[in-house]
Amino acid sequence: MIINKPRNIKSLDRCIYGKGTFDQLDEILSFKRKDNGFVVFLLDDYFNGKELENRIPLKNQDILIRISAADEPTTDLIDEVVVKCKKHSSSLPVAMIGIGGGSVMDVCKAASLMVTNPGYSFEYQGLDLIKNPGVYSIVIPTISGTGAEVSMTAVLTGPVKKLGIKCDFTVPDQVLLDSELIYSVPKEQRFYTGMDCFIHGIEAIDGRHINEFARGFAEKSLDLCREVFLNSKISRELADEKLMVASYMGGLSLTYSQVGVCHALSYGLSYVLHTHHGIANCIVFNVLEDYYSDGVKEFHEMLRINNISLPKNYTKGLSEAEMSKMVETSYALDHMWDHAIGANWKEIITKDKIRALFERM
Ligand code: NAD
Ligand code: ZN
Repeated sequence: MIINKPRNIKSLDRCIYGKGTFDQLDEILSFKRKDNGFVVFLLDDYFNGKELENRIPLKNQDILIRISAADEPTTDLIDEVVVKCKKHSSSLPVAMIGIGGGSVMDVCKAASLMVTNPGYSFEYQGLDLIKNPGVYSIVIPTISGTGAEVSMTAVLTGPVKKLGIKCDFTVPDQVLLDSELIYSVPKEQRFYTGMDCFIHGIEAIDGRHINEFARGFAEKSLDLCREVFLNSKISRELADEKLMVASYMGGLSLTYSQVGVCHALSYGLSYVLHTHHGIANCIVFNVLEDYYSDGVKEFHEMLRINNISLPKNYTKGLSEAEMSKMVETSYALDHMWDHAIGANWKEIITKDKIRALFERM
């Protein structure tokens, strides 16, 4: 059954996959360098002083901007990056490159659009609001799971909402997948971001917008997640390669499908408590057995095998105003509820039900 007219999907132009491919970045950039302008490198500040920094093919006119992923990206941060680029040169950069996790990749995707579109980035939070294509963008994940490397959205926290700048122009032009870059991610962070991928797959499949195109990517992505997180014998090296592909496919599955109950609640949690997306999803998914019973069982097994313990009583002690804000933020995500529960979701999901779930976290 076709619910909406299918979107004519915009794909990445190029993708390079393989260990050590980071060292091909200079060569990949050479055709843009012919335009004789500067390149903006956005680097997760985790890499300050690390070996990777010295491998960045930085030339004289280029700029390197260090991005902290301590907080998830805000619209203010994007506007600051744009100001830095404009102060650096009156011409546009020939390329913008984001090296980091979902946070830095989203900064890259959003900033590459905002250098060519007037106004402030919060004005573009929503679907198809961007008017002009951005500058050439390359994303290089250093953590895998979010699918930000391939998705058509750049998720930002703005003054009134956490919502993506979502449109065809947001899809990066090039992605570089080098699994050596994710080797240093600590166990807990790797698990949380990896579970974002697992939950994308579960939610994509378990909803009414799934089609066979999306299912193909979601199923393969879920299988790879199971190989990574349910098999304690797999080597970290092989697991990282699989996780990188799982993330990419999970991102593609969402192009035609949607996230669901977990993401609706986790956006509420993150908006009020500033909880990072990966761990927020885990805290939420942990209590969603009534919605995704098999997926939650597998998730509990993954927690056990990977020796991860989640924070407890996470929402205890919240003020009434904070709890209400959380509930309202989640309830407003109509497209996620519509996908997960159905067009009549408001008859089934009440604000009291959402509150009761938050109280169990
Ligand atoms: P992240 O980018 O927020 O980074 C998490 C932490 O890991 C940071 O402290 C970072 O410095 C550190 N880090 C990064 N690379 C590392 C490495 N190789 N070794 C050690 N530490 C490293 O993590 P994430 O989970 O990848 O991204 C979450 C963000 O992605 C959120 O802002 C979320 O909203 C966004 N997101 C976007 C999409 C999309 O489609 N655009 C989808 C899901 C989530
Ligand atoms: Zn997610």
